[in-house]
Amino acid sequence: MSRFLSQRFAALEPYTPGEQPQDRTYIKLNTNESPYPPSPRVLEAVNAEQVSMLNLYPDPTCGLLREKLAETYGVGPENVFVTNGSDDILNMSFMAFCDRDHGIAFPDITYGFYSVYGQLHDVPCRVIPLTEDYQVHVPDYVNIGSNVIIANPNAPTGIALSLEEIERIVQSNPDHVVMIDEAYVDFGAVSALPLLGQYKNLLIIRTYSKSRSLAGARLGFAIGDAALIEDLERIKYSMNPYDINRLTQVAGIACLESDDYYKANAEKIIRVRDYTTKALEARGFTVLPSGANFVFAKKPGIAGKDLYQFLRENGVLVRWFDKERIRDFLRITIGTREQMDKLLFVLDK
Ligand SMILES: *Cc1c(COP(=O)(O)O)cnc(C)c1O
Repeated sequence: MSRFLSQRFAALEPYTPGEQPQDRTYIKLNTNESPYPPSPRVLEAVNAEQVSMLNLYPDPTCGLLREKLAETYGVGPENVFVTNGSDDILNMSFMAFCDRDHGIAFPDITYGFYSVYGQLHDVPCRVIPLTEDYQVHVPDYVNIGSNVIIANPNAPTGIALSLEEIERIVQSNPDHVVMIDEAYVDFGAVSALPLLGQYKNLLIIRTYSKSRSLAGARLGFAIGDAALIEDLERIKYSMNPYDINRLTQVAGIACLESDDYYKANAEKIIRVRDYTTKALEARGFTVLPSGANFVFAKKPGIAGKDLYQFLRENGVLVRWFDKERIRDFLRITIGTREQMDKLLFVLDK
């Protein structure tokens, strides 16, 4: 830390991203990417013609992409907001809707970035423990009187809430924004999209990084009431209006034109998830019920850190969190069947 850093950030604890090692090839099951490449349409769309236009700024409104998203999800373009990865939406939402007097509530075990943005923007955070069996305890959020952010399915547990449970939270907090981070919703959970017409305080946050095989392109979007989207635009146009580059915009459109490809991939991942869950349970693991493209698992009697290190030495990367309550768990991304068989082979050692 230099002596020039603003005091505001002196105590900030930044987010630690999962490793992206460049030294050797691992079976990479640590950051919940898709094991499948982008669709052939995406590969065609990001072509030399598009690259040759990189001297020109991209469309800051992302008009075509927003129209395509609106059509895909049955809303208007004024209900859609796009950013350079959904982390940016989370960041801008904290800026737009939270302050000293408008805090935010989220579970003790959830996506690590929520507390980082809370610190970054000096927002009071109410951290609510998950139940003993790692469920979001919905009554804690009913009439809570603050903004709320919940990942559904939750990360890193993978456990999903029902639409009725989400609705209770949204409905009982009409004067606060309820953000539902649906990063993993395409792997079998229920989206809150059907509630959009009824609730002006609901913001749904999605990403192309997981089910849509575009983690490297950086593209996230939010869907909500037009007034909420306008608030987010206000922040975006005060920061970086050209945040989504040309190549990512065309990739994002082509991706939506190949929905069947991505649906088939998600189905494959769900099947391999069920296979992996059974195989881990057969080896004595406890596996939480996952609605995502990862499983959260522990083996009684073995420290999570030791298991993580053993797997790493044997060429398999998974995610381990040095955090109370979950120190003995590993978060294992679901890859292809072949990748999971290699994981199981190493575990059998
Ligand atoms: C991966 C993830 C994100 C961020 O995705 P990007 O679009 O890649 O920034 C947001 N929320 C949750 C819960 C995630 O797991």
